[in-house]
Amino acid sequence: MKEYKKLLNNDIVCACGRTHFVPIKDVDFTFKPQDISGIVGKYVDGNELLVIVDYHTDEQINNDVIGELKKSGYKLTIAKFLDKRLVPDEKAVGTIFMESDRNTKGILAVGSGTINDLARFAGSRMKVPVISIATAPSMDGYAAAGSSLVVKGAKKTIKAFSVTAIYGNIDVISEAPYELIQAGFGDIFGKKTALADWALSRIVNDEYWCDQTVELVEKSTDLCIENAENIALRDKKAIEYLIEALVLSGIAMSIVDDTRPASGGEHLISHYMVMKNLERGEMIPSHGVTVAFGTLILSHLYDFLFKSEEFGIQEKSVEIREALQRYLPTPAQVNQWLEIIGLSLKPEGYEVDKNYFHEMIMKAGFIRDRFTVFQYLHQLGILEKAADYVTGLYF
Ligand SMILES: [Zn+2]
Ligand SMILES: [Zn+2]
Repeated sequence: MKEYKKLLNNDIVCACGRTHFVPIKDVDFTFKPQDISGIVGKYVDGNELLVIVDYHTDEQINNDVIGELKKSGYKLTIAKFLDKRLVPDEKAVGTIFMESDRNTKGILAVGSGTINDLARFAGSRMKVPVISIATAPSMDGYAAAGSSLVVKGAKKTIKAFSVTAIYGNIDVISEAPYELIQAGFGDIFGKKTALADWALSRIVNDEYWCDQTVELVEKSTDLCIENAENIALRDKKAIEYLIEALVLSGIAMSIVDDTRPASGGEHLISHYMVMKNLERGEMIPSHGVTVAFGTLILSHLYDFLFKSEEFGIQEKSVEIREALQRYLPTPAQVNQWLEIIGLSLKPEGYEVDKNYFHEMIMKAGFIRDRFTVFQYLHQLGILEKAADYVTGLYF
């Protein structure tokens, strides 16, 4: 049994002072289509099932899963999305509700990130369990409790139930489109700066912190980084580390009931880029790819912070530097990870010009109420100097 399975569906009395509970009942990546009826039978009370599938999902799995369920007598309604980069907005939510039968007793989500966000939201509103069949190692939302949706043109995280169980097959997941693997790896190495931001806030603001959760994210992230080359080669063991790390960071968020362990300033950069594209009516950029870019920016911002006089004279500067060292990557390390996975090392590669680059450093940190290096630089009165410095490195 995988170590993390102990965390599922059990009360965990933790040294942080809280008792944690993850409502997910099972995670297993040895799924085969012939298992599906048994799985659904375990969690869904009734035989009316809504199946939501996406563009990226292999036709064969769809047919096998759907065929298997039909053979077992399930009454299926199927919502299939053909958009290459599906926007999880009112239209997509509406499509699901229009396709669903009023007797729907459960939802099966077969696909990657967006399909899961939509399914969890719909399941929460319909009060039915959601079972996820993950098909790509593209993002960390499989085990998340919130649904990331686009509402009136803006990205929002809406409270939703967790999925009941997550399944997948490494043979299928390792054959996902390469851009989804790049995105998943980007979302994972972004945990490094997320943990650094959390450690910073712990010292500066005395924010809540859970060692067990941090270790869970740190260990699974490091395993992926050590296997970066093999992830790029779609090696099955390495892809298994990646999908597990993605699921684990969702579990970590669920443990502390906060996105803190998985999302820091690098995610604010990503959210800012999504917001800007939505405003301009453009296709939204990939979550994991923009998180990867955000991680590069954060590594430079911390580099600037640590070199600055204003930081040096702070009472807690030594403590901060020592605590963050464990998590924080150098810009050279981030460049190396980007290179291995085949992502751009330059803002142009993310369609970001000089003004936009400077603007996002000045503004991204303030779109959500979350303490990160952006707020800290602002508190020290050196955010603009930092933005000028990092912009000057590229333009
Ligand atoms: Zn804890
Ligand atoms: Zn993420």
